[in-house]
Amino acid sequence: QAKMQGKDRYVVFSNEYKKRNNRYVKLERDLHYALEREQLELYYQPIYNLQTDEVTGFEALIRWNHPDYGLIKPTEFIPITEETGLIIPIGKWIMEEACSKLLILQEELNNNTLTISINVSPIQLLNPSIYDQIVDVIDQTGIRPELISLEITESVVIDEFKHSEALLERIKRLGMKIYVDDFGTGYSSLGYLYQLPLDLIKIDQSFVMMCNEDIKKKKMLKTILNLANEFKMEVIGEGVEKIEEFIELKTLGCKQIQGYYISKPKPINELKQMLAELKLKNEKRTKAV
Ligand code: C2E
Ligand code: MG
Ligand code: MG
Ligand code: MG
Repeated sequence: QAKMQGKDRYVVFSNEYKKRNNRYVKLERDLHYALEREQLELYYQPIYNLQTDEVTGFEALIRWNHPDYGLIKPTEFIPITEETGLIIPIGKWIMEEACSKLLILQEELNNNTLTISINVSPIQLLNPSIYDQIVDVIDQTGIRPELISLEITESVVIDEFKHSEALLERIKRLGMKIYVDDFGTGYSSLGYLYQLPLDLIKIDQSFVMMCNEDIKKKKMLKTILNLANEFKMEVIGEGVEKIEEFIELKTLGCKQIQGYYISKPKPINELKQMLAELKLKNEKRTKAV
């Protein structure tokens, strides 16, 4: 009987595996048309300044509105775009879309200092056309490059150090900012921190989560904040979900945060309302303190 059960379980597992595999194959096929069928959409998550209690900009986060599967997260389909090379045209679209939508937002919100942060994949950075793509986007949209930051992950800089260094220097000369995403995870080498022209460290959520209770995390946060300070880099704390984490980061002197506590990433047409609600929430919190 046990054997039977074991066999059954195997069958179930196998079907599940096939289903997932099928999904992958389908997604891979459908991704080729996603751009032209206008199924890709950028959501925007506010970046919040703890000293001024203001939203200073947004991070663009991609979503795929799939006709059968519904909304698909980037963690599932960005790897497929990287394997197929589709990240190159899609990456260009992301930059164009994010920059042109920022200009619309600035006008709507009557604030021309708002910034946009764009995630770039390692594959994009290694593609010879990336620099020209960036220059094209700036020319086409007329956006001030100072308002754009590119978010890169540590692995890029480690694997192709010399190439990345030269490219990032050129991008910086345009006026754009370079952020290190998910700092403290993955390949952790401190060597690149002082050798590359980095403007800002995004502290990974793993250090932020429960930092109010966990003394070790608090110490890690202090250390990262000191490090950033020594190297004249700014900091954003990622994934702030609770008021206790918000208060802890503020107390530690972290100037900027992102996270569900402020707002989830939203489609562009929901940003105005979100900002209005945020203002009310701020007023309540300030009164309570
Ligand atoms: P990331 O750049 O580190 O983005 C932060 C992720 O954390 C986002 O997930 C965001 O929705 C989520 N997040 C923000 N605040 C909170 C919070 O308080 N709690 C929790 N639990 N999560 C929070 P998302 O949008 O699913 O993106 C996942 C990753 O996919 C991104 O990580 C980034 O590496 C990649 N990605 C997203 N959009 C793009 C894109 O346009 N291009 C590229 N190349 N990669 C992208
Ligand atoms: Mg990011
Ligand atoms: Mg991140
Ligand atoms: Mg991340």
